[in-house]
Amino acid sequence: MDKFMRTIPFDHLLHWMRSEWRTNAQIFGIPRATFFRKANSRVFALPGGSCELPLGPAAGPHTQLAQNIIAGYLTGARYFELKTVQVRDDLDIAKPCIDAAGEGYNSEWSTELSITDAATEYLKAWLSLPFVKCLIHPDSPAVQPGYVFNVSVGYDLKGIQSPKVDGFLDVLTDASNHPDWRSFQQILYESLLEHKTPSPSTIADIVGNLAPQISTSVTLSTMHGCPPQEIEAICRHLLATKKMHTYVKLNPTLLGYAVVRDLLDRHGFQNIQLQSETFEHDLQGTEAFPMLMRLKAFAAQHDRFFGVKLSNTLPVKNTRGRLPGSEIYLSGPALYPLTISLAGLVAQTFDGKLPISYCGGLDYFNLLEVARTGIYPLTLATSLLKPGGYLRLTQLSTTLDTYLDQIPDNRIDLERLAQLVDSLHNFRKVNEFVTVPDPGKSTEKLPLFDCFTAPCQQGCPIRQNVPDYLYHLEKGDADRALATILADNPLPHITGYICDHQCQVKCTRNFYEKALAVRDCKKWAAENSRVSLSSAPWRRKSPLSVKVAIIGAGPGGLACAAFLARSGVLVTIYEKEASAGGTVQHIIPKFRLPDSVIAEDIKAVTALGVKFITNWPEPIDIHNLHNQGFGYVVIAIGAGQSRPLNLDGANGKILDSLTFLRTFKSDPGSVRLGKTVAVVGGGNSAMDAARAALRADGVRTVHIIYRRTVNEMPADREELENALRDGAIFHELLTPVEFISGNRLKCQRLRLGKLDSSGRPYPIPIENSFSEIQVDCLIAAIGEEADQSFFERNGIVRKGLWYNPKTLETNITNVFIAGDARRGPATVVEAIADARTIATVILKREKIKNSPTVKPAKEMEIIADLSLRKSSLQLPNIQNENRTQIQQEAMRCLHCDLLCGRCVDVCPNRANFGVKVSTPGFKDILQIVHLDGLCNACGNCVTFCPYDGAPYRDKFTIFWDRHDFIQSRNSGAIYLGEGRFSVRLRKKSFTYAVGSTNSPKLSPPTITRVLEQLYQQYRFLLSV
Ligand SMILES: Cc1cc2nc3c(=O)[nH]c(=O)nc-3n(C[C@H](O)[C@H](O)[C@H](O)COP(=O)(O)OP(=O)(O)OC[C@H]3O[C@@H](n4cnc5c(N)ncnc54)[C@H](O)[C@@H]3O)c2cc1C
Ligand code: SF4
Ligand code: SF4
Ligand code: SF4
Repeated sequence: MDKFMRTIPFDHLLHWMRSEWRTNAQIFGIPRATFFRKANSRVFALPGGSCELPLGPAAGPHTQLAQNIIAGYLTGARYFELKTVQVRDDLDIAKPCIDAAGEGYNSEWSTELSITDAATEYLKAWLSLPFVKCLIHPDSPAVQPGYVFNVSVGYDLKGIQSPKVDGFLDVLTDASNHPDWRSFQQILYESLLEHKTPSPSTIADIVGNLAPQISTSVTLSTMHGCPPQEIEAICRHLLATKKMHTYVKLNPTLLGYAVVRDLLDRHGFQNIQLQSETFEHDLQGTEAFPMLMRLKAFAAQHDRFFGVKLSNTLPVKNTRGRLPGSEIYLSGPALYPLTISLAGLVAQTFDGKLPISYCGGLDYFNLLEVARTGIYPLTLATSLLKPGGYLRLTQLSTTLDTYLDQIPDNRIDLERLAQLVDSLHNFRKVNEFVTVPDPGKSTEKLPLFDCFTAPCQQGCPIRQNVPDYLYHLEKGDADRALATILADNPLPHITGYICDHQCQVKCTRNFYEKALAVRDCKKWAAENSRVSLSSAPWRRKSPLSVKVAIIGAGPGGLACAAFLARSGVLVTIYEKEASAGGTVQHIIPKFRLPDSVIAEDIKAVTALGVKFITNWPEPIDIHNLHNQGFGYVVIAIGAGQSRPLNLDGANGKILDSLTFLRTFKSDPGSVRLGKTVAVVGGGNSAMDAARAALRADGVRTVHIIYRRTVNEMPADREELENALRDGAIFHELLTPVEFISGNRLKCQRLRLGKLDSSGRPYPIPIENSFSEIQVDCLIAAIGEEADQSFFERNGIVRKGLWYNPKTLETNITNVFIAGDARRGPATVVEAIADARTIATVILKREKIKNSPTVKPAKEMEIIADLSLRKSSLQLPNIQNENRTQIQQEAMRCLHCDLLCGRCVDVCPNRANFGVKVSTPGFKDILQIVHLDGLCNACGNCVTFCPYDGAPYRDKFTIFWDRHDFIQSRNSGAIYLGEGRFSVRLRKKSFTYAVGSTNSPKLSPPTITRVLEQLYQQYRFLLSV
């Protein structure tokens, strides 16, 4: 039954708020620290009343239920556009209906409640807000509301004139007609008296002064394709017959297909597929503007306000497959360039004299700019659906309140608006942090309890304790930060510069503005700490007799040596080159990784007593090493052989990337490439080759040729951007086929086909479609592999799964394989991960205690501060990488391992709740329970939960209705009264009585504690 929400009866709503406030200093999960406090005395006269702040949730998921509106109020919303009602109030909306991970899509439209229930819900919200004010400001509960409810109706004249919608509007304009008006007033009065503050006379004043005019303004929403005559007729009906101040919502289609397509493409939304029919059928400017003129005059005749709401959503093709149906509605950041352009057009046409209510891609970074043009009220939805949820409003409302005086009064500043529209050319900058790639979910299943996890740690191949070392950096303690890093990562300097930082890809902050600069923080810790690999507690006093030989002194070999040596193992590394460091030392260009940085890590490994034998002549015989007393051998020889590229007519013009980079690094002056170079490939080697080529003597132009598109490139996005910034020219969907007439490189054009085994679309040649590039030299960076002859010589069979995936042991006992030699071209941190696996296996086989790890030192006091962090968007600022900047950056960390709660924050309906449970050794860990009654299966929590799972199905669920309990498959409980629960756990049902010795012992024991807590502290959640 999880598709259908239940509403909370009014008396229980008030009881819930009072109880939650008393026990937890929060209301509907919104903690006191994030409440908005108005500081500016300016208020706005809006159609519908006086408003403290012209800001709030748009008609949508945040204004459907009373508790949603309350949550918005607490965080500073003062203008509430109530969720649209329409005559068809029994629609079965297919679920999920929200996909807010990136730009934002939905497939829902009007309220899911019946019209009568919707009216009651809005009445409950209207009467709840005075109660909320008394709760949180008992000494000064302002009698004036200071907030405005704006109803939203759709979608055609017949429906709006139907008795259902007509009656709804009558109730909203004068709620004294509502059957519950009197009884709710009485409940409010009694609940306030029970609360004891404010004084009875003030309470009597508050209740006596309650205005029954919930909403005297309306926003009209029409379907795409609604004829202009009908739109005009509805507006006239609302203005004249219903006597309501009216906004009419316009669609972005008014800009025309070509403009919308161009705006989307220019701002990085090429993936959005439009439907030209939508534009053809919709209202055109030639009809819209005269109609708006007539309506403006008509409203004035009737002494009503008239304005436009910009803008409606845009129907687009459903190409993402997350939501049902072929068409979905676009919202969020992608609407910003469209809506602000439309606002510019409308404002110019009406000389700034037609009021505009604005909703389209607002967030912290553009809110003030829009407000300063005089466009308001400002509403938003998608931003509030992302992690942080309602809490994001706190930052928005506080910021807007601070600058309220800069908002022009009753006029639109045309010049400023024109500048804002012009500045869209720079929008790409803004866009970069609102459309970061979806960090995705892990493959780990969502547990019933104890789910909080740090996605950065999950994304890291060596599971580095990122939140802990950021915590130390926040405190300015580089030593403890580096000690935490070294526990998992013996190469902090190298990884501080060139790690491909999968932690950042997964970081929760991606959903806010930008990932934590984790790698830069690590680099700073490494460079500013006095701790090193060889300082206590790592080094054992007396070395053991266990001997391990490692072949190859690249990152894999070095890391494995460090993990073993710090536990006392005697390690010798055999390296064929004259110096250690492997690919990072001999191939990766110095402009990316200075030699001194590599030297720091090698010095630390050496200080652990690791013996290096360099210039070791090939061939190496593993059996000889065994004979010399080495009980274990680790092969870490990398993937040092470039895959060849052979083209007709090349005549010596092709170089492989490794050879080129090696020469460029050791003797850059000797490199002769000519003027124009083509680099073929899309990985990090290709990017380094392109950047190095651009720095080589005589080179003017470098082309990067890649056979798929930028979206499929294996190279770090950052490295591609660096190459482009350096001046490389990027060609996608192209592959070289031959050299013709000397320097003309003929390339085949390609298109993307079906997915191949790598999960990426396969490039297919486009028949007879070629292009030519003039090049003097081609650098092939199309992959690297390990030296096959090494394995053959040593009897290591490389067929199928040729090593044990858990131990990384080859077919020869006690001979292991690590890094690029095992994986093919991979990364430094993956080599370290292999090294750790192997070291752990060897230590276990030798019964050697693993070296001590650093105890997690994070103090729980940090939790108190986290809700404020969750409510704030803040871009990183680490240009100078000084202590203050690093501390500030570390302070952006949300410590997801201590307090994830994304499902709590993003649920518009407050259907996920954090219950404080004491756990031995910890204080007050939050456990998430799901409240079945409030959930409408919109799917938003599923999008943002970092696990493979759906919080609304997989978390312990509280049911209010027996039928719902029976219908659902969720593990959970229904309260039977007097401390007794009917519980279902892993499909088994039983009765549990809190405190009774007859109750069964529950596993995990957390369930017992959660049930006890629910009964003792959170009884208001148990039934309504
Ligand atoms: C151009 C380029 C750019 C890269 N950029 C990045 C990046 O930005 N970030 C990142 O994380 N990774 C990057 N990588 C990948 C990274 O360098 C490798 O994943 C990492 O170095 C693998 O470590 P390894 O120890 O397995 O191998 P290697 O570093 O290749 O080390 C192997 C060592 O074994 C030695 N050896 C080989 N055969 C023998 C033998 N028979 N006897 C003795 N010694 C032998 C070699 O001389 C070498 O020193 C890049 C790679 C390339 C080529
Ligand atoms: S916010 Fe902090 S803990 Fe959360 S994923 Fe990012 S770095 Fe990790
Ligand atoms: S619990 Fe999840 S699915 Fe249910 S309403 Fe909240 S966000 Fe939507
Ligand atoms: S989103 Fe909710 S259920 Fe998922 S890990 Fe976070 S707190 Fe747990």
